[in-house]
Amino acid sequence: MSATKHNWTKEEILEIYNKPLMELLYEAATIHRKNHDPNVVQVSTLLSIKTGGCSEDCGYCPQAARYHTNVEGNDLMTVKQVKAQALRAKSTGSSRVCMGAAWRNVKDGEEFDQVLEMVRTINKLDMEVCCTLGMITENQAQRLAEAGLYAYNHNLDSSEEYYKEVISTRGYQDRLDTIDNVRKTNVTVCSGGIIGMGENIEDRAGMLVALSTLNPQPESTPINALVAVEGTPLEDQEPVSIWEMIRMVATTRIVMPETQVRLSAGRTQMTREGQAMCFFAGANSIFAGDKLLTTPNPDVNEDMEMFKELGLNPQKPFTKKVQPQTVEAAESKLEALGEKPRWTRPEHTIARNEVAKAKAKAMKQ
Ligand code: SF4
Repeated sequence: MSATKHNWTKEEILEIYNKPLMELLYEAATIHRKNHDPNVVQVSTLLSIKTGGCSEDCGYCPQAARYHTNVEGNDLMTVKQVKAQALRAKSTGSSRVCMGAAWRNVKDGEEFDQVLEMVRTINKLDMEVCCTLGMITENQAQRLAEAGLYAYNHNLDSSEEYYKEVISTRGYQDRLDTIDNVRKTNVTVCSGGIIGMGENIEDRAGMLVALSTLNPQPESTPINALVAVEGTPLEDQEPVSIWEMIRMVATTRIVMPETQVRLSAGRTQMTREGQAMCFFAGANSIFAGDKLLTTPNPDVNEDMEMFKELGLNPQKPFTKKVQPQTVEAAESKLEALGEKPRWTRPEHTIARNEVAKAKAKAMKQ
């Protein structure tokens, strides 16, 4: 195991990111091999349990109610539907199910209770359960932990400076506060970001400073390449090149040696050779299934063919940490506190978000 450093600076990270590619790859692959089995990659399935109609204005997201996209909204799925999907995912090699709901933050009540039941159900299928539900309080994090949640995803998306250019309806500190609330439980933290939103390399390094200086570092970090969706403020962004993706994965691996680095959105734009280089550079997880929440993703059979070609094996569940215990709802000692935390609404304006919103409004009239 490599010693984990928690005081990375932007300058140090930029120096790594900008190394000659062969040196960068060699260093990342060496660190990867010291900390992980290079022939094992986790397959996770991302399930949108509640789609669309979100009140936030994330510039990359087709689920924001204020933009006009082709995403069809759906109410919260039933526990039965989620169980069926989880079983299907398990039968095709997934060891983790990540459930995403398009919410600004979790509100105590029937819907959250239903999500807790989904967590119990999937944990009992001996799969790792992850949720991404927006901002949560410490009590909500504890209730998720008690239900058997393995990981909570809450991405920092970009650097603190660039975050303000993408989202105006909440602040960076809100993200850090939710991560902090998760950290007070035994649920692991999954947090990463997106490249290709118009940020510069300093912003990418800034995001890695924010993530790598968390102590402990996130157990999991998704690196997404923006999938520009028509109708969103970022619809005209050019796709990032594979070289940028490889550099970002390699740099993440070097600064966060023990973290599970997740090759997430944007894989449909990558060749197998490109993905293989990302695995060599330290990526050790992919998301399976033909959709990533609402954007396209490679077919699971194609992924399994790729695994065969590269000699990769899917990671077994609970390889990195023991399975959490599930406490049944009837035996729970925790109560909903019905808190109404004051999550920030900075409400500065972002010109391209306003343009996309106005376009959507005009289309509705
Ligand atoms: S990324 Fe999440 S919070 Fe932001 S608009 Fe989409 S669903 Fe809402």
